[in-house]
Amino acid sequence: MFGTSWRVGRIAGIEVRIDSSWAVIALLITYSMYRQVSILYPELSGGGAVALGILATVLFFGSVLVHELAHALVSQARGIRVQDITLFLFGGATRAKVDSRGPGDEFVIALVGPLTSGLLAALFGVVAGLGGDVLSTPLAGTLGYLAWTNLLLAGFNLVPGFPLDGGRLLRSAIWKATGSLGRATRIASAAGQAVGWLLVASGVAWLLAGDLAGGIWFAFIGWFLVQAARSSYQELQLQQLLRGVEAEDVMAGDLRPIPPGLSLQDAVDDYFMRYGHGAFPVEEHGKTIGLLTLRGVRQVPREQWPTHRVRDAMVPLGDQVVVAPDARMDGVVGKLQDGEAGRVLVAQNGEVVGIITPSDLTRWLRRRQPLEGSTR
Ligand SMILES: [Zn+2]
Repeated sequence: MFGTSWRVGRIAGIEVRIDSSWAVIALLITYSMYRQVSILYPELSGGGAVALGILATVLFFGSVLVHELAHALVSQARGIRVQDITLFLFGGATRAKVDSRGPGDEFVIALVGPLTSGLLAALFGVVAGLGGDVLSTPLAGTLGYLAWTNLLLAGFNLVPGFPLDGGRLLRSAIWKATGSLGRATRIASAAGQAVGWLLVASGVAWLLAGDLAGGIWFAFIGWFLVQAARSSYQELQLQQLLRGVEAEDVMAGDLRPIPPGLSLQDAVDDYFMRYGHGAFPVEEHGKTIGLLTLRGVRQVPREQWPTHRVRDAMVPLGDQVVVAPDARMDGVVGKLQDGEAGRVLVAQNGEVVGIITPSDLTRWLRRRQPLEGSTR
């Protein structure tokens, strides 16, 4: 669900990112707005139509951001840490452990998003209506269009399919009624997949009826929702599987420390080639001072390997995500997904005793699953 995303800034201490899918969407919206504006207002110059198209896209983008900020700020006000906000295809996602508390928190945090979009719709509508005399007709029309867009955003987000806001409301209600987060998530995510498939089906129907752009658009959003609903549930399953498990249960522990003064050539011959790990801790006087990764070695030209030292190519320990051996794995998984390096170091008293990579986690799950054949 989260492919490549770019960091664009920080608002109220919350990191705001833009998913790469957004770039395509922004172009698409700008273009369709430009076309619509030039058809509706033929008196407008080409440049004016482009400017209005861009303005509409920026305001749409801003509206989605304000919707997500509402989720994030209410989360923070309730003492739930917000990791970041990512804007992507049909809106945004605020990453916070909303389900770490109770159904009440999740209900309020989910509800505030569509409410905010509804308010924005009213705001744009009022400005477009009252400003009709002052603003030019095309500008007022564009603002009116944004009122509708925000209303649509509120409505779409209220559809009861997880992970849409409506799906979260549904989940919190079932959670409250049954007391089981697992069951609530399963039902809400099934609803999310059903809504997603319904969108795909209507997209295909539109496509067959001859509306190419509208059809693809709907099918795309539907497919996205199906995937998001499915992965949200799998993530929860993983969390539950990892409950009570500690970092040292999962980590690869047979680490072989490398001395910092070794040449890269020797490190490659005696460590990477021999043990097949992707990274080794660099140790000096019994303390780990960094990590030498295969990627780090590859950044040095091969002919310099005999003269280059491990110390110069290693990643300092301070740049790594480090956890204690008794850190709870359900928390570590989040760090594993956040970290740019895709790895978490396990350290005790300043010495790295293990490494956890996604493949270590997969290996652990594979070992674990036959023992728990009945959990499905
Ligand atoms: Zn929302």
